[in-house]
Amino acid sequence: MEESLLLKDGFIVLPGETLRGSLRLRDGKISQTGDLTPEPDERVINCEGLYLLPGGIETHTHLQLESMGTVTADDFESGTRAALAGGTTTVIDFATQFHGESMAEGLSRWHEKADGRCAIDYGFHMALTEWNSRLKEEMASVVEGGVSSFKMYMAYKDNMMVQEDEIYEALEESQRLGATIGFHCENGLLIDVLVRRERARGHLTPYYHQVTRPPELEEEAIVRLEAVNHLLHANHHIVHLSTARGLGAVNRARERGISVIVETCPQYLLLDASRYGTADRDDFEAAKFIMSPPLRERRDQEALWRGLASGDIQFVGTDHCSFNFKGQKEMGRSDFSKIPNGAPGIELRLQLLYAYGVATGRMDINRLSVVTATNAAKYFGLYPDKGVLLPGSDADIVALDPQLEWTVRAEDLQENCDYTPYEGMPVKGRVRHVFLRGRQKVAFGRIVSDDLDGRYLPRRLPDPVIQ
Ligand SMILES: [Zn+2]
Repeated sequence: MEESLLLKDGFIVLPGETLRGSLRLRDGKISQTGDLTPEPDERVINCEGLYLLPGGIETHTHLQLESMGTVTADDFESGTRAALAGGTTTVIDFATQFHGESMAEGLSRWHEKADGRCAIDYGFHMALTEWNSRLKEEMASVVEGGVSSFKMYMAYKDNMMVQEDEIYEALEESQRLGATIGFHCENGLLIDVLVRRERARGHLTPYYHQVTRPPELEEEAIVRLEAVNHLLHANHHIVHLSTARGLGAVNRARERGISVIVETCPQYLLLDASRYGTADRDDFEAAKFIMSPPLRERRDQEALWRGLASGDIQFVGTDHCSFNFKGQKEMGRSDFSKIPNGAPGIELRLQLLYAYGVATGRMDINRLSVVTATNAAKYFGLYPDKGVLLPGSDADIVALDPQLEWTVRAEDLQENCDYTPYEGMPVKGRVRHVFLRGRQKVAFGRIVSDDLDGRYLPRRLPDPVIQ
């Protein structure tokens, strides 16, 4: 029998209320909550003044992904250690089916990468790079194996892009199975034309990445996707929403009775397109912010914050896809279209959202727990084992000190990347303790267990009724 642990006198954050009290952890689960007194020989951790939040669920990462002739800097070990340090106890990574492969081949490769190498619990979405009848036939067995969410790209022509007929067929099969599909919404055909046009003009600096991916192309892809869903009403979501225009298209679809779930990311809430510099200046530092979709404007950030607080946006993933500046981002030194797309962020999600969401008054602490854990647990078939602090749930818990102030420095992070896009940002609120299935893995801000004992989580079907 495992020891019993008492997290004493914290603020227990539930979806709709915050209670002052204690949590008892036993056999990997939360066994009791409320006004509890220590039992003989019980280990007690004083949580006075700390928020007790459900362990974060990260919905969007690309660990150890082969992309653009290289591989992402974080593998499952460094990536999940970074997640852990930042208060995330479950990650759902994108296993990818590359051209010509079956989904089973893609999935088994991802299991090999992750098996025995994760510091936190993990599951997979299945990302498709194409569509055909063979993949359609395979969907049922993938869902059966605990992968109940897929992803398709409306961007990346000639590489991963699918079009409306393929989206229709995939959604129809996913709907039959009760699964869901997430979509990268950008118009890949137009991006391709714009990239070729800028390169032909000799416009090769990182600045031109965002010029070739304007906000209208996200909005337009969402309109097209929702036209398909007007016919089907299948479960689906939009990954990494980045613009006010895109959110407007989502809400217009909702007015027509279409149910759409939306994810956004800290970079679209906190960073803006000024990071790309100007057309007349070649500053390759901007490569650190090359991601797709690109960073947007201040007014987009404000719209996304409002959407997150109001329930128009349901959860936050980071799209953690880390490439070192040296040697990787530099591959595009003479051509922005060759810069590997993506940036790190897995470690900072919860703390940035606390600092810039809760501490600034944009949302309350309860909403923070919902958008970083509860909604993802429900939608991705992990609730109530994960995502909520109730008796019987897994004892995945974060104790966050709302008063501690610190500054982001790449060198202090666990992420295996030589930079962070959030360098120098002041942060109010810091993760103090983290528990995974009842075991303390972070104490006073430091990882205290090197065990790679994260478990694979087969997931149930999505519950799409979340706000
Ligand atoms: Zn992604």
